[in-house]
Amino acid sequence: MAPIYNFSAGPAMLPHEVMEQAASEFIDWQGSGMSVMEMSHRSKEYLSIAEQAEADLRELMDIPDNYKTLFLQGGASSQFSMVPMNLLRGKKKADYINTGTWSKKAIAEAGRFCEVNVAATGEPSTFTTVPPESEWSLNPEAAYVHYTPNETIQGVEFHSIPETGDAPLVADMSSTILSRPLDVSRYGVIYAGAQKNIGPAGLTIVIVRDDLLGEEVAGTPAMFSYATHAKAGSMYNTPPTYSWYVAGLVFQWIKKKGGLKAMGEINKRKAERLYGAIDSSGFYRNPVDPACRSWMNIPFILADPELDGKFLSEAKESGLVTLKGHRSVGGMRASIYNAMPEEGVNALIAFMKEFEKKNS
Ligand SMILES: *Cc1c(COP(=O)(O)O)cnc(C)c1O
Repeated sequence: MAPIYNFSAGPAMLPHEVMEQAASEFIDWQGSGMSVMEMSHRSKEYLSIAEQAEADLRELMDIPDNYKTLFLQGGASSQFSMVPMNLLRGKKKADYINTGTWSKKAIAEAGRFCEVNVAATGEPSTFTTVPPESEWSLNPEAAYVHYTPNETIQGVEFHSIPETGDAPLVADMSSTILSRPLDVSRYGVIYAGAQKNIGPAGLTIVIVRDDLLGEEVAGTPAMFSYATHAKAGSMYNTPPTYSWYVAGLVFQWIKKKGGLKAMGEINKRKAERLYGAIDSSGFYRNPVDPACRSWMNIPFILADPELDGKFLSEAKESGLVTLKGHRSVGGMRASIYNAMPEEGVNALIAFMKEFEKKNS
């Protein structure tokens, strides 16, 4: 059977080798007689899985010792409220950069807790560009600065880390974490839902600097306090055990592939090849400013939207699935996270060329 390449934005493809290993261990994990799904999260077996995964993540991302790595539930969407609850620390304002759909959701949620200063917005360009840092109006009283390094829906990505002075920088990295090397020391908090570039849905990773822990807004539930989870090693309650385990397999896979440097090189190559194919055709178009194009989520529109349905059904017949763009943007979107092999991108490009030839 020809391989199926799944371009879903999330939950997304997982590396084939990881799926095979998970399948082989599914009923009996390493002779324990138990599936990982059946293990107590406090058992010796499960703790070894959890600790290895955390150590591998720290090694891959080169996370400094003064940061905690938390393995939580609730998705990135819970972080939209956990960030203000934990980081306001007596202050009343926070800066947000609005670059698209996910930024907007984070902004709306923060508004329940504080005065949000939208220091810059890409809205006038219908989110096809990142407003230049020279035009940001950061508030000196802001408790932190929040941004979305990669907007999964619009396909807009920051290609450098913003400079925010003393205000801790907070990043929703749901769709870009692990895609390339990153200087974690530039951040106060990094968070990501797992289902794009880490592992299965149900797990949310939070990387938080120690000095930001323990000053939650009054009334913060224990489950919404970073300090609670930091103190308990993410075992205050039952963590998403199986997703944590599969994420650990993904970390091992990335290490075997050469770490984040190798991932970055492959991801850059995949993205450049696909943008190149789009830009060199008169048939497909990507609306995003070339300086801010995402390596992970590549939206493109057909010159004739009447052909969208035909494109999708013929792509599917060729084993290229989940290419429909987000309903708010239309057209197509190819999400090409770490797990998407180069062959998948090549297959998509070959299909696109063939479709163009037959339909223009
Ligand atoms: C998918 C996504 C979210 C939402 O994640 P959930 O885990 O479903 O809450 C938030 N931010 C970004 C950038 C995303 O891509």
